[in-house]
Amino acid sequence: MTRRLSPEMVAAYLREIGIDYLPVPSPARKPASGAIPAAPPPAAATAETLEDIRKELLSCRGCPLCAGRRTVVFGVGNPRTRLMFIGEGPGEEEDRQGEPFVGAAGRRLNQWIARLGLAREDVYIANIVKCRPPGNRAPLPEEAASCLPFLKRQIRAIRPEAICTLGAVALQYLLGTNEKITRVRGKWREVEGVPVLPTYHPAFILRNQTRETEVFADLDLLAERLHLK
Ligand code: URA
Repeated sequence: MTRRLSPEMVAAYLREIGIDYLPVPSPARKPASGAIPAAPPPAAATAETLEDIRKELLSCRGCPLCAGRRTVVFGVGNPRTRLMFIGEGPGEEEDRQGEPFVGAAGRRLNQWIARLGLAREDVYIANIVKCRPPGNRAPLPEEAASCLPFLKRQIRAIRPEAICTLGAVALQYLLGTNEKITRVRGKWREVEGVPVLPTYHPAFILRNQTRETEVFADLDLLAERLHLK
């Protein structure tokens, strides 16, 4: 009569002869007939960074504005910000320094950012066009159209929780609308899945000080949405 040994007896015997660990290969799993073996998980798609976009822009010859630029004014600030400001295009000082909003309008924008309880370094600031239009004129539709894909890529790289457009030009080109800024300011819109709040341009406010109360109301809306202050 053959006696079957229980696993406990086998283990006791093995321990007795000094073997207390046996690697056991895991049983090979056979796919059910017709089943397709699971594919390895796809490699995570590598997201584009601001640096990738900036490198590409440095040699951009996409519109005639490149001929007159001293620098490409790409954008500045925290690449992981929750809040992005978008203006029109670089002026003379911005073109010289390579940074948006560094003149008088920039100082007023800094005050607005401080009113939100933030510093300039906390937000991200960019423009519709990255090269200075001659004589500080507004960008032409073809110039904006050529530069806008870069701005949209910046928005996708940053993924802010809110965008504030500054002035009629940023409103018109980013949102693709001819609506008047006086009607649209303070009303939430959306671009690339990101909520957008249009307000006035700081340069306009420097010339029309009494309208700043409207900007303050818009800043309150931003603070409310982002739970700031
Ligand atoms: N005005 C803008 O719209 N952008 C700047 O960078 C500076 C002034």
